Amino acid sequence: MDNCLFCNIIAGKIPSACVYQDDKTYAFRDITPAAPTHVLVVPKAHVGGMSAVDELDDATLAACLRTVKKVAELEGLTNGFRTISNCGDDARQSVPHLHFHVLGGKRLSEKMD
Ligand code: AMP
Repeated sequence: MDNCLFCNIIAGKIPSACVYQDDKTYAFRDITPAAPTHVLVVPKAHVGGMSAVDELDDATLAACLRTVKKVAELEGLTNGFRTISNCGDDARQSVPHLHFHVLGGKRLSEKMD
């Protein structure tokens, strides 16, 4: 998708700090980190968000979660981490390409909202 920010990051047209990638997924540092570790995990295939995951094949969907775990390992998050995927307006999703925030490196807030 030419006009998708994360598709352009995956394609290398917009710079990013890559943490990990494989054939199906890309993980890079959030530009506005909310925790010492704040990494975004995205499928390389474009899908708008969680409400559209039926458009993704199961292997890619599973790969996203495996990449979340891989990122936690690479970042040394042995004491825990949080994974969030905002979907739609009420959740304040700002980039319409499925992504999983991986947050850690400190004791995170109890609040989820
Ligand atoms: P969300 O609000 O859940 O859609 O999350 C989108 C995230 O993308 C936000 O946390 C932004 O800080 C992050 N973001 C926006 N532009 C960039 C960029 N160019 N590189 C890395 N992260 C970005």
